[in-house]
Amino acid sequence: MSRVFNFSAGPAALPEAVLKRAGEELLDWHGAGMSVMEMSHRGKEFMSIAAQAEADLRELLAVPDNYKVLFLQGGASSQFGMVPMNLTRDNKKVDYLITGSWSKKAVAEAKRYAEVNLAADTSDSKFTIAPGQDELKLSGDAAYVHYTPNETIHGVEFPYVLETGDVPLVADFSSTILSRPIDVSKYGIIYAGAQKNIGPAGLTIVIVRDDLIGNASDGTPTMFNYATHAKSGSMYNTPPTYSWYLAGLVFKWLKEKGGLSAMAEINQRKAQALYAAIDGSDFYANPVDPSCRSWMNVPFTLADAELDTKFLEGASAAGLKTLKGHRSVGGMRASIYNAMSEEGVQALIDYMAEFERVNG
Ligand SMILES: *Cc1c(COP(=O)(O)O)cnc(C)c1O
Repeated sequence: MSRVFNFSAGPAALPEAVLKRAGEELLDWHGAGMSVMEMSHRGKEFMSIAAQAEADLRELLAVPDNYKVLFLQGGASSQFGMVPMNLTRDNKKVDYLITGSWSKKAVAEAKRYAEVNLAADTSDSKFTIAPGQDELKLSGDAAYVHYTPNETIHGVEFPYVLETGDVPLVADFSSTILSRPIDVSKYGIIYAGAQKNIGPAGLTIVIVRDDLIGNASDGTPTMFNYATHAKSGSMYNTPPTYSWYLAGLVFKWLKEKGGLSAMAEINQRKAQALYAAIDGSDFYANPVDPSCRSWMNVPFTLADAELDTKFLEGASAAGLKTLKGHRSVGGMRASIYNAMSEEGVQALIDYMAEFERVNG
């Protein structure tokens, strides 16, 4: 067996140590005589797994006590609807920033429930820049402000946290959560699909401030109401137990690595090395303004798009997988989440240099 360097945007690579541990525990978890997949979610074994995972996540992100951490299903895409359903009962006006494909999708869904004011829209720049705070057209009396701190497809990221005064800030952190510390207290809601930087697909994590729970609009389905999950410890129905367990193993791994400050240093080094390689060459290019380049998703193009297939085939043969860019952007994209080692990034940089030498 040999493991490749997997640059997939999601579902993405998981830490090898976590997969090994899951493998060891697959048939018999801690003497229970069964797999975590086969356990009742209400039994004491799974309850302990669930509670430990939540405690470790709270510790990693220093989540304040007045926030609930929910372990849900439906992906970040369900949150596009759940957020307005839960926050606009008394005020239909909401502010959204469009900075890439994901925030655009969030807006399309919000429009079904609320009156959307676009506080920013960077489509004209082809999503290569994050708007500055002073450029935002915030309404001031919105029910919330929604943005996407890191746009996974375009590789553009906000270098600052939005200032929204008393208006709750809602953030889709799907592709950047756990890459570095976050000041959770600045947000009303943080949500993320797990399959990028948390764990396997099927789990969605929502961190929500207490005062934003219990105000769902009439007609909100029970399963889409934050109060349902907050009251039941995310066990109103059967949660995605195995994904929850695996996310818990990732949290333990992150703690062993020194927590999110340590991850931030590693992630910044990885990103800097890769962007330096791209910028230092006339053969490769990244279109994003250097002030807001993503640490996690690095899109790049080759000088001659005719060489894309050859680049990808050679990369694949060298054990560098899933580098094809999103179909809407083209070119390449290297996603370098927590589980991608510095060694993996260096292997990509070396391959890029060699490919340029031969084909440039
Ligand atoms: C992947 C992604 C989504 C969609 O996530 P699902 O879990 O597939 O619904 C939404 N927002 C961002 C920023 C993403 O990266």
